[in-house]
Amino acid sequence: MTDRLIRATAADGGIRCVGAITTNLVEEARGRHDLSYVATAALGRTMTAGLLFVSSMKRAESRVNIRLNGDGPLGQVLADARLDGTVRGYVANPHVELPPNAKGKLDVGAAVGRNGYVYVVRDVGYGYPYSSTTQLITGEVGDDLTHYLATSEQTPSALLLGVFVGSEGVTAAGGMLLQVLPKAARDESLVELLESRLGGLTGFTPLLQTGKSLPAIFNDLLGDLDLKILPEVQMLRFHCPCSHERMLGSLKMLGREELLDMIETDGGAEATCEFCRTVYHADSEELMRIIESMEEGDGSNG
Ligand code: ZN
Repeated sequence: MTDRLIRATAADGGIRCVGAITTNLVEEARGRHDLSYVATAALGRTMTAGLLFVSSMKRAESRVNIRLNGDGPLGQVLADARLDGTVRGYVANPHVELPPNAKGKLDVGAAVGRNGYVYVVRDVGYGYPYSSTTQLITGEVGDDLTHYLATSEQTPSALLLGVFVGSEGVTAAGGMLLQVLPKAARDESLVELLESRLGGLTGFTPLLQTGKSLPAIFNDLLGDLDLKILPEVQMLRFHCPCSHERMLGSLKMLGREELLDMIETDGGAEATCEFCRTVYHADSEELMRIIESMEEGDGSNG
Protein backbone atom coordinates (compact mmCIF):
# COMPACT_ATOMS: atom_id res chain seq x y z
CA MET A 1 0.00 0.00 0.00
CA THR A 2 1.24 3.50 -0.77
CA ASP A 3 2.04 5.83 2.10
CA ARG A 4 -0.91 8.02 2.97
CA LEU A 5 -2.46 10.42 5.43
CA ILE A 6 -6.11 10.83 6.31
CA ARG A 7 -7.93 13.32 8.51
CA ALA A 8 -11.10 12.99 10.55
CA THR A 9 -13.09 14.70 13.26
CA ALA A 10 -15.11 13.24 16.12
CA ALA A 11 -17.23 14.35 19.08
CA ASP A 12 -19.06 17.04 17.15
CA GLY A 13 -15.79 18.49 15.84
CA GLY A 14 -14.18 18.61 19.31
CA ILE A 15 -11.58 15.97 18.45
CA ARG A 16 -9.26 16.19 15.49
CA CYS A 17 -7.70 12.97 14.19
CA VAL A 18 -4.89 12.43 11.70
CA GLY A 19 -3.47 9.08 10.73
CA ALA A 20 -0.53 8.22 8.53
CA ILE A 21 0.99 5.12 7.00
CA THR A 22 4.68 5.77 6.37
CA THR A 23 6.14 2.31 5.73
CA ASN A 24 7.69 3.07 2.34
CA LEU A 25 9.16 6.44 3.19
CA VAL A 26 10.75 5.12 6.39
CA GLU A 27 12.18 2.22 4.39
CA GLU A 28 13.56 4.74 1.88
CA ALA A 29 15.20 6.72 4.72
CA ARG A 30 16.66 3.48 6.09
CA GLY A 31 18.19 2.62 2.72
CA ARG A 32 19.50 6.12 1.96
CA HIS A 33 21.18 6.56 5.35
CA ASP A 34 22.03 2.89 5.97
CA LEU A 35 20.22 3.19 9.31
CA SER A 36 20.57 0.61 12.07
CA TYR A 37 17.37 -0.92 13.47
CA VAL A 38 17.16 1.49 16.38
CA ALA A 39 18.06 4.49 14.19
CA THR A 40 15.31 3.45 11.73
CA ALA A 41 12.77 3.43 14.56
CA ALA A 42 13.92 6.79 15.96
CA LEU A 43 14.02 8.60 12.63
CA GLY A 44 10.89 6.85 11.33
CA ARG A 45 8.87 7.90 14.37
CA THR A 46 10.18 11.48 14.11
CA MET A 47 9.46 11.78 10.37
CA THR A 48 5.98 10.36 10.88
CA ALA A 49 5.32 12.87 13.68
CA GLY A 50 6.50 15.70 11.43
CA LEU A 51 3.95 14.74 8.78
CA LEU A 52 1.19 14.50 11.41
CA PHE A 53 2.15 17.88 12.91
CA VAL A 54 2.30 19.75 9.60
CA SER A 55 -1.05 18.33 8.47
CA SER A 56 -2.97 20.86 10.59
CA MET A 57 -1.29 23.88 9.00
CA LYS A 58 -3.05 25.86 6.27
CA ARG A 59 -0.65 27.58 3.89
CA ALA A 60 0.72 25.42 1.08
CA GLU A 61 4.36 26.29 1.88
CA SER A 62 4.02 25.24 5.52
CA ARG A 63 6.64 22.98 7.02
CA VAL A 64 7.53 21.54 10.39
CA ASN A 65 11.00 20.74 11.67
CA ILE A 66 11.37 18.40 14.61
CA ARG A 67 14.78 18.08 16.19
CA LEU A 68 15.58 15.76 19.09
CA ASN A 69 18.84 16.56 20.84
CA GLY A 70 19.31 13.91 23.48
CA ASP A 71 22.37 12.59 25.29
CA GLY A 72 22.09 9.14 23.70
CA PRO A 73 24.51 7.66 21.15
CA LEU A 74 22.34 8.43 18.09
CA GLY A 75 23.06 12.15 18.45
CA GLN A 76 20.71 14.57 16.78
CA VAL A 77 17.57 13.22 15.08
CA LEU A 78 15.99 15.63 12.63
CA ALA A 79 12.88 15.50 10.45
CA ASP A 80 11.67 18.15 8.02
CA ALA A 81 8.07 17.64 6.85
CA ARG A 82 5.99 19.70 4.46
CA LEU A 83 2.29 20.15 3.98
CA ASP A 84 2.61 18.71 0.45
CA GLY A 85 3.18 15.30 2.06
CA THR A 86 6.95 15.15 1.61
CA VAL A 87 9.46 14.55 4.37
CA ARG A 88 13.20 14.14 4.77
CA GLY A 89 15.47 13.63 7.75
CA TYR A 90 18.63 12.25 9.21
CA VAL A 91 20.27 10.89 12.34
CA ALA A 92 23.76 12.07 13.37
CA ASN A 93 25.06 8.53 14.03
CA PRO A 94 23.01 6.23 11.79
CA HIS A 95 24.91 3.00 12.54
CA VAL A 96 24.47 2.94 16.33
CA GLU A 97 22.80 -0.30 17.48
CA LEU A 98 21.76 -1.10 21.05
CA PRO A 99 20.56 -4.28 22.76
CA PRO A 100 16.76 -4.55 23.14
CA ASN A 101 15.15 -2.97 26.20
CA ALA A 102 13.56 -4.89 29.10
CA LYS A 103 10.40 -5.44 27.03
CA GLY A 104 12.42 -6.95 24.20
CA LYS A 105 11.77 -3.89 22.00
CA LEU A 106 14.16 -1.62 20.13
CA ASP A 107 15.58 0.69 22.78
CA VAL A 108 14.80 4.01 21.12
CA GLY A 109 14.73 5.78 24.51
CA ALA A 110 18.32 4.85 25.31
CA ALA A 111 19.46 5.55 21.75
CA VAL A 112 17.98 9.07 21.67
CA GLY A 113 18.66 9.70 25.36
CA ARG A 114 16.38 10.83 28.15
CA ASN A 115 18.17 14.09 28.87
CA GLY A 116 18.02 16.82 26.33
CA TYR A 117 15.61 18.83 24.28
CA VAL A 118 12.89 18.69 21.66
CA TYR A 119 12.90 21.61 19.24
CA VAL A 120 9.91 22.16 16.98
CA VAL A 121 9.77 24.84 14.31
CA ARG A 122 6.53 25.61 12.49
CA ASP A 123 7.16 27.70 9.40
CA VAL A 124 4.24 29.01 7.33
CA GLY A 125 6.55 30.25 4.58
CA TYR A 126 6.74 33.93 5.44
CA GLY A 127 7.62 36.04 8.48
CA TYR A 128 9.22 34.54 11.54
CA PRO A 129 8.76 30.81 12.05
CA TYR A 130 7.19 29.77 15.34
CA SER A 131 9.69 27.75 17.34
CA SER A 132 9.51 26.19 20.74
CA THR A 133 11.51 23.90 22.98
CA THR A 134 10.65 21.37 25.68
CA GLN A 135 12.62 18.74 27.53
CA LEU A 136 12.88 15.13 26.48
CA ILE A 137 10.88 12.79 28.72
CA THR A 138 11.70 9.20 27.74
CA GLY A 139 13.52 9.59 24.43
CA GLU A 140 10.92 7.26 22.86
CA VAL A 141 9.81 10.15 20.58
CA GLY A 142 6.03 9.69 21.02
CA ASP A 143 6.09 10.56 24.75
CA ASP A 144 8.43 13.47 24.15
CA LEU A 145 6.29 14.98 21.42
CA THR A 146 3.03 14.42 23.33
CA HIS A 147 4.62 16.35 26.20
CA TYR A 148 5.68 19.04 23.75
CA LEU A 149 2.13 19.42 22.41
CA ALA A 150 0.61 19.56 25.88
CA THR A 151 3.04 22.08 27.35
CA SER A 152 4.22 24.19 24.45
CA GLU A 153 1.16 24.22 22.21
CA GLN A 154 -1.27 23.64 25.07
CA THR A 155 -3.29 21.13 23.11
CA PRO A 156 -4.32 17.95 24.94
CA SER A 157 -3.07 15.33 22.51
CA ALA A 158 -2.48 11.65 22.10
CA LEU A 159 0.27 10.67 19.71
CA LEU A 160 0.95 7.10 18.72
CA LEU A 161 3.96 6.30 16.57
CA GLY A 162 5.25 2.97 15.40
CA VAL A 163 7.98 1.55 13.19
CA PHE A 164 8.43 -2.16 12.73
CA VAL A 165 11.79 -3.04 11.24
CA GLY A 166 13.33 -6.45 10.81
CA SER A 167 15.98 -8.15 8.71
CA GLU A 168 13.82 -7.64 5.61
CA GLY A 169 13.56 -3.89 6.22
CA VAL A 170 10.65 -1.77 7.37
CA THR A 171 7.45 -3.79 7.19
CA ALA A 172 5.10 -1.37 8.95
CA ALA A 173 5.34 2.26 10.01
CA GLY A 174 2.84 4.94 10.79
CA GLY A 175 1.22 7.04 13.42
CA MET A 176 -1.88 8.72 14.66
CA LEU A 177 -2.46 12.08 16.34
CA LEU A 178 -5.67 12.77 18.23
CA GLN A 179 -6.18 16.26 19.62
CA VAL A 180 -8.92 17.93 21.61
CA LEU A 181 -9.41 21.24 19.81
CA PRO A 182 -9.08 24.49 21.78
CA LYS A 183 -12.82 25.22 21.67
CA ALA A 184 -13.51 21.85 23.30
CA ALA A 185 -10.41 21.58 25.51
CA ARG A 186 -12.19 23.01 28.54
CA ASP A 187 -14.52 20.05 28.36
CA GLU A 188 -12.51 17.76 30.62
CA SER A 189 -14.77 14.82 29.98
CA LEU A 190 -13.67 14.88 26.35
CA VAL A 191 -10.00 14.82 27.35
CA GLU A 192 -10.70 11.94 29.73
CA LEU A 193 -12.63 10.09 27.08
CA LEU A 194 -9.74 10.39 24.67
CA GLU A 195 -7.32 9.15 27.30
CA SER A 196 -9.50 6.19 28.16
CA ARG A 197 -9.88 5.19 24.50
CA LEU A 198 -6.14 5.26 23.97
CA GLY A 199 -5.12 3.98 27.40
CA GLY A 200 -5.29 0.36 26.37
CA LEU A 201 -3.07 0.79 23.34
CA THR A 202 0.63 0.03 23.55
CA GLY A 203 1.69 1.89 20.44
CA PHE A 204 0.82 2.11 16.81
CA THR A 205 2.74 -0.89 15.51
CA PRO A 206 0.29 -3.50 16.93
CA LEU A 207 -2.57 -1.65 15.20
CA LEU A 208 -0.71 -1.60 11.89
CA GLN A 209 0.16 -5.23 12.17
CA THR A 210 -3.48 -6.19 12.34
CA GLY A 211 -3.51 -5.19 8.68
CA LYS A 212 -6.40 -2.81 9.26
CA SER A 213 -6.71 0.33 7.15
CA LEU A 214 -6.52 3.77 8.75
CA PRO A 215 -10.30 4.34 8.47
CA ALA A 216 -10.90 0.98 10.16
CA ILE A 217 -8.54 1.90 13.00
CA PHE A 218 -10.31 5.25 13.45
CA ASN A 219 -13.64 3.46 13.42
CA ASP A 220 -12.55 1.04 16.13
CA LEU A 221 -11.43 3.90 18.37
CA LEU A 222 -14.01 6.60 17.74
CA GLY A 223 -16.73 5.08 15.59
CA ASP A 224 -19.41 5.73 18.22
CA LEU A 225 -18.45 9.40 18.63
CA ASP A 226 -19.88 11.00 15.51
CA LEU A 227 -16.74 10.14 13.55
CA LYS A 228 -16.40 11.95 10.22
CA ILE A 229 -13.55 10.80 8.00
CA LEU A 230 -12.66 13.42 5.40
CA PRO A 231 -12.69 12.06 1.86
CA GLU A 232 -9.27 13.39 0.74
CA VAL A 233 -6.39 10.96 1.04
CA GLN A 234 -2.98 12.60 0.92
CA MET A 235 -0.08 10.64 -0.53
CA LEU A 236 3.18 10.77 1.44
CA ARG A 237 6.74 10.26 0.26
CA PHE A 238 10.39 10.79 1.13
CA HIS A 239 11.64 13.75 -0.85
CA CYS A 240 14.55 16.14 -0.51
CA PRO A 241 14.50 19.38 -2.49
CA CYS A 242 18.29 19.53 -2.74
CA SER A 243 19.82 20.02 -6.18
CA HIS A 244 23.12 20.57 -8.00
CA GLU A 245 22.37 24.32 -8.08
CA ARG A 246 21.78 24.50 -4.32
CA MET A 247 24.97 22.57 -3.68
CA LEU A 248 26.92 25.10 -5.79
CA GLY A 249 25.28 27.89 -3.77
CA SER A 250 26.38 26.32 -0.50
CA LEU A 251 29.98 25.98 -1.73
CA LYS A 252 30.11 29.79 -1.79
CA MET A 253 30.18 29.73 1.99
CA LEU A 254 33.61 28.05 1.92
CA GLY A 255 35.31 31.16 0.58
CA ARG A 256 37.81 31.83 -2.18
CA GLU A 257 40.91 30.27 -0.63
CA GLU A 258 39.31 26.95 0.13
CA LEU A 259 37.72 26.75 -3.32
CA LEU A 260 41.05 27.48 -5.00
CA ASP A 261 42.63 24.80 -2.85
CA MET A 262 39.94 22.31 -3.94
CA ILE A 263 40.62 23.09 -7.59
CA GLU A 264 44.33 22.59 -7.08
CA THR A 265 44.31 19.44 -4.95
CA ASP A 266 41.13 17.63 -6.04
CA GLY A 267 40.27 19.21 -9.37
CA GLY A 268 36.76 19.79 -8.11
CA ALA A 269 34.52 19.32 -5.11
CA GLU A 270 32.20 16.67 -3.78
CA ALA A 271 29.35 17.37 -1.37
CA THR A 272 26.85 15.01 0.19
CA CYS A 273 23.38 16.20 1.19
CA GLU A 274 22.98 15.30 4.86
CA PHE A 275 19.21 14.84 4.47
CA CYS A 276 19.17 12.34 1.61
CA ARG A 277 22.84 11.32 1.08
CA THR A 278 22.78 12.36 -2.58
CA VAL A 279 26.36 13.05 -3.67
CA TYR A 280 26.97 16.09 -5.87
CA HIS A 281 30.13 16.82 -7.83
CA ALA A 282 31.36 20.21 -8.97
CA ASP A 283 34.22 20.36 -11.47
CA SER A 284 37.01 22.95 -11.59
CA GLU A 285 35.15 25.11 -14.10
CA GLU A 286 32.11 25.33 -11.86
CA LEU A 287 34.28 26.19 -8.88
CA MET A 288 36.02 28.92 -10.89
CA ARG A 289 32.64 30.37 -11.83
CA ILE A 290 31.67 30.47 -8.14
CA ILE A 291 34.91 32.32 -7.31
CA GLU A 292 34.30 34.78 -10.14
CA SER A 293 30.75 35.45 -8.96
CA MET A 294 32.07 36.07 -5.44
CA GLU A 295 34.57 38.60 -6.74
CA GLU A 296 31.90 40.39 -8.76
CA GLY A 297 29.61 40.62 -5.77
CA ASP A 298 32.30 41.62 -3.31
CA GLY A 299 34.76 43.73 -5.35
CA SER A 300 35.59 46.29 -2.70
CA ASN A 301 37.39 43.75 -0.52
CA GLY A 302 39.61 42.79 -3.53
ZN1 ZN B 1 19.05 16.11 -0.27
